[in-house]
Amino acid sequence: MPCILSKDEIEKTIAFHGHSCPGLAIGIRVAELALKVVGGKETDLVCVVETDMCGVDAIQFLTGCTYGKGNLIHKDYGKMAFSFYDRKSGKGFRALLRPGADGGIGSELRPVMRKVADATATDDERLRCSALREQLEKRYMNADLEELFEVTELKHPAPRPARVLESLRCEACGEMTMESRTRRFGGRTLCLPCFEKVEQKV
Ligand SMILES: [Zn+2]
Ligand SMILES: [Zn+2]
Repeated sequence: MPCILSKDEIEKTIAFHGHSCPGLAIGIRVAELALKVVGGKETDLVCVVETDMCGVDAIQFLTGCTYGKGNLIHKDYGKMAFSFYDRKSGKGFRALLRPGADGGIGSELRPVMRKVADATATDDERLRCSALREQLEKRYMNADLEELFEVTELKHPAPRPARVLESLRCEACGEMTMESRTRRFGGRTLCLPCFEKVEQKV
């Protein structure tokens, strides 16, 4: 079944992200899945994304899981995988984009996209690139959720809510820094940029 979110919700998501693209479409569909499986407003939703691509914006906009609130956690694994937990009901799942989800469009698209990025593409290739991107976006928006994502149960319980931490003064630059992001070096407490500076000299 194609995406069941309203046209208005989809348009607002595109406006939030700044453009429409295949990556955003993946995010829209996985957000749709989350709202369907773990529910909407009454939940205490946490999302773990294993990628930092366009689609994360759709998740932030549609599910209310945001970086700023701390209920969107980025793990830099470079995988198209998205886990959702409802801390109230304990329900959750991990959705991994299936390798075949692009219907084979990706294998033609990738080399052309590379040329466009390197500014070595001809006019025809540039046109082909945007046509393929549009085709791929449509495919993601119209495919069955089943066809797009492999959904599995969560292996780990939901991450706990953000802890309230102390701030320490960096003894090099003097700026206040959350204690979990400080390092001890040569008997001093340092923020990460100051630590990296002295550590490189050793
Ligand atoms: Zn995008
Ligand atoms: Zn510092």
